[in-house]
Amino acid sequence: MTENRFQKITDAEWKARLTPEEFRVLRQAGTEAPGVGEYTDHFAEGIYVCRACGAELFRSSTKFDAHCGWPAFYAPEGEAAVIKRADHSLGMERTEVLCAQCRSHLGHVFEGEGFNTPTDQRYCINSIALKFDDSNNAN
Ligand SMILES: [Zn+2]
Repeated sequence: MTENRFQKITDAEWKARLTPEEFRVLRQAGTEAPGVGEYTDHFAEGIYVCRACGAELFRSSTKFDAHCGWPAFYAPEGEAAVIKRADHSLGMERTEVLCAQCRSHLGHVFEGEGFNTPTDQRYCINSIALKFDDSNNAN
């Protein structure tokens, strides 16, 4: 995959664009505290874009209430919207989810937990990594 302009942004530039907490989560693979994110219990219709670069990542129609403390989606907007990679940090085997366009950290994806969704996958995404956009639903 070729490098795009978002992947050339330096840490100093990201720091200037993002709040300290956004930077910590998106650029340093941090995790927001459970239950505090603005989109955890947010179920309006629209699309969630990357807070760092604006790429369309998740649609409200795939959001479900997993009672896990973070926004949960059963699928991304498209398989090309996100990148998944193995994450061995904290002594756990997890799959990290990154924005395909700017490579910012979004959260993790878990499989086979038994949720009654079409994919049985739970994209556990930090609210602060997303920005809700309902402009496509304006009547
Ligand atoms: Zn992005």
